[in-house]
Amino acid sequence: MNFLPVTDESLKKGAEIIKKGGLVAFPTETVYGLGADAFNPQALARVFEVKGRPHFDPLIIHIAAVRALEETADLSILDSKNRKKLFMLADNLWPGPLSIVLPKNKKIPGIATAGLETAAIRFPSHETAQKLISLSGTAIAAPSANPFGSLSPTKAEHVRDGLGGKIDLILDSGPSQIGLESTVLDLTCENIKILRSGGTPREDIEKLIGAVSVEKESEDEHGLSSPGQLKKHYSPKTPLFVFNREEIINQPAEASCATRERIALLFFDGSTREAWRKTQKPLKIAVIKVLSETGDIKEAASNLFEILHEIDNSNISKIIAQLAPQSGLGEAVNDRLIRGSVK
Ligand code: AMP
Ligand code: MG
Repeated sequence: MNFLPVTDESLKKGAEIIKKGGLVAFPTETVYGLGADAFNPQALARVFEVKGRPHFDPLIIHIAAVRALEETADLSILDSKNRKKLFMLADNLWPGPLSIVLPKNKKIPGIATAGLETAAIRFPSHETAQKLISLSGTAIAAPSANPFGSLSPTKAEHVRDGLGGKIDLILDSGPSQIGLESTVLDLTCENIKILRSGGTPREDIEKLIGAVSVEKESEDEHGLSSPGQLKKHYSPKTPLFVFNREEIINQPAEASCATRERIALLFFDGSTREAWRKTQKPLKIAVIKVLSETGDIKEAASNLFEILHEIDNSNISKIIAQLAPQSGLGEAVNDRLIRGSVK
């Protein structure tokens, strides 16, 4: 396995590997992706194998130009109202953290879409992702570059720790700016639905195409319209418990002493941490972290997975985390925290 900074040369090398059916981890603005040629079933099979990803969980297909939609989707099947909405979304929100589920082009092998007749397609804004796709001369199917179910990788080092040795190349370009996966939007039905909340807030979509519904969580693979919506997902190794602002302020630190647990408290903002401090006498908490000192939701989202990775590597026995305000990107942050938590 090679671990290389992004340069013209390493990008060319990456593209050659993709063309030959190999696997390349690369940065995107959401999280690091594990890329393979979207038209090569053997390469796609390796993606599932390396991640330990169940075959019922379809991959997102990445393109580097809106016109590449024609090769990956079959827009002739899409109803005309939704086709208009597709282009409204593509004109305004692409490139960016939005994956759109469309009828799939026949050339996309079934293994990419878990046998579904639809494919989730995304045009990422990260320059490296765009260059890698263009140089490869194909579309790149890429799930997050982590073992299935675990924390998503927002740095090249996270990919190395999780999958190193199993893949051909990791392209390193520092931390992901958004740090949360893309929003997945299903345009194949009359009732347009967010299947997974993510880096594009619901409000941004609704401004363009009107109200959309949000898929409720599902327990298992049966009847899932978005299999990544498994109830338990994005999990740190350390048990995670989530609370709202009022609840976390009153979390006693003493419990950690009695049981000799090493607890990490993860606050959404600095003001909640300060309110919590006032309720505590001696502080026994092992680790105190804050997603954003000022309560900036974008900063909080981009720090989420990185801080959870850090806590996971610090011999902590329990994480107590505060939920974000439930609006804008807060919906996606809370989705990840709740799915990663112990029920
Ligand atoms: P990941 O790339 O690991 O962030 O996961 C991609 C997620 O996108 C999947 O787990 C699904 O939830 C969703 N997805 C991908 N393709 C489709 C599709 N054709 N229909 C519905 N959801 C999809
Ligand atoms: Mg994933």
